[in-house]
Amino acid sequence: MRTPFVVGNWKLHKTIAESLALVTELKNQLGAVKGVAVGVAPVFTALHAVAKRLEGSPIATCAQDCHWEASGAWTGEVSAGHIADAGGTWAIVGHSERRQFFGDTSEGVGKKARAALAAGLGAIVCVGESLAERDGGRTLAVVDEQLAGGLSGIAAASAPRLVIAYEPVWAIGTGRTATPAQAQEVHAHIRARLAEHLGADAAGAIRIQYGGSVKPSNAEALLGEPDIDGALVGGASLEASDFVAIVKAARPG
Ligand code: PEP
Repeated sequence: MRTPFVVGNWKLHKTIAESLALVTELKNQLGAVKGVAVGVAPVFTALHAVAKRLEGSPIATCAQDCHWEASGAWTGEVSAGHIADAGGTWAIVGHSERRQFFGDTSEGVGKKARAALAAGLGAIVCVGESLAERDGGRTLAVVDEQLAGGLSGIAAASAPRLVIAYEPVWAIGTGRTATPAQAQEVHAHIRARLAEHLGADAAGAIRIQYGGSVKPSNAEALLGEPDIDGALVGGASLEASDFVAIVKAARPG
């Protein structure tokens, strides 16, 4: 059985004080929730404070990105080791906003995922097609290319610390969500590809999150699909009540 994993990606939102207020709310409201793993991804400047506030809580502190090198002349970057040093335990890599606006390539995403794993973090590798790619019938080919790059050099033994987030770009921040059937089709395809890359056991163990306008009203239907093992949540993770409702919807039936 895969334990569902729900992560709130706060993107470029919230000061340190606001982050601490939200995380304190989440800690209070999610203390008793069983059967779901939960994480939050604040901005880098709030990561250490959030991790400190979450000490002793099962809620994981995640980074929104990481660099592929451990240290060196990389002005402006943050390494996986520095994230671990600040108390983070996961890094999101290959988010579509990174690919779209900062030039992240599938090869670079693979380097970042390997760096995260090597530093002892978990890696959430994001994949997903644009609207033009979906309309052109290229969804599965795009996901295949992103997976091949993102998983390159990663061993099956990393399965417990590896998560794939399927996030159709046309559904991110748009209010437009993939239907449960559309998402399940791609998730099943991803799991089949994971089996080819890493073997059947690893493919059965790796969590595949769905992301793209997940909210309390659609979470239960999406998370009820057999290959949807949690959610990567943007906008709806900024309000404790919405995020808590999504986490509760992910509890195994
Ligand atoms: C995301 O940024 O990963 C995301 C899914 O955003 P939203 O939930 O706002 O669509």
